[in-house]
Amino acid sequence: MSRLLRPARMLLLGPPGSGKGTQTERLRKQFEIPGISSGDILRRHIKDGTEIGQLASSIINQGKLLPDDLMTKVVASELRRRHWLSPSTSWLLDGFPRTQAQAEMLDAQELGPANAGMNLVVELQVPEDAMLDRIANRLVHVPSGRVYNLTYNPPKVPGRDDVTGEPLSQRPDDDPAVFRKRLNEYRASTEPLVEYYKNSGDVLWSVAGETSDVIYAQLEREVVRRFGESVDESADNGFGGCWSGRLAFVNNN
Ligand code: AMP
Repeated sequence: MSRLLRPARMLLLGPPGSGKGTQTERLRKQFEIPGISSGDILRRHIKDGTEIGQLASSIINQGKLLPDDLMTKVVASELRRRHWLSPSTSWLLDGFPRTQAQAEMLDAQELGPANAGMNLVVELQVPEDAMLDRIANRLVHVPSGRVYNLTYNPPKVPGRDDVTGEPLSQRPDDDPAVFRKRLNEYRASTEPLVEYYKNSGDVLWSVAGETSDVIYAQLEREVVRRFGESVDESADNGFGGCWSGRLAFVNNN
């Protein structure tokens, strides 16, 4: 059973290697909220050899950010294509907006007019060595965006995606030297973004932890507190009134 009490439109902010892709994936599965990742959209453009992909490829490999107006157009067209610009929708964004200018454009041009403003912005705080370790051990399946970690979440067959069996690859920007650049870019662009959301009502929420499990437990509690309810199924589960621990949501799009 799933039931959503209020629409949840969320953004996850976190430095490279902070595990925001993993957190997004867990939220999507548990709460049945659809999501998009700007990095995944760009990697698909690169794979398909589009004009945007050609531009993105060199910028991404240098650890730099794409221009704000281009990124806003790319993501806005995806939001429109999915009919997500409506107050009753729930969704998760990963990687966009990444700068204050992107957030301002997104709010002014798309979310504001549609009365579909973001209602939770999560800032992930992870120690630097944990992030470095994560990017060194990360493999991705580009067509789906599925992410594996050689230590915590290895593929069943080495080097192959669990679902399709297709080859996995290491991201060219997952290199310690490029990581340093990406981290600096992230800090420079995200601090103003965090400030922006601090001044946008009660949407910003920060969470700290070393592992994805520690962070996810807190994140899950916060999402339930703001948008949902924990459903106690103990009345009819035959376990003598024990808490079943199951969380249930409805996506009422
Ligand atoms: P990610 O998978 O989120 O780490 O994104 C990979 C790369 O894509 C980033 O390092 C940037 O070069 C580019 N990128 C993704 N999202 C954005 C964005 N919102 N603005 C600018 N560049 C982006």
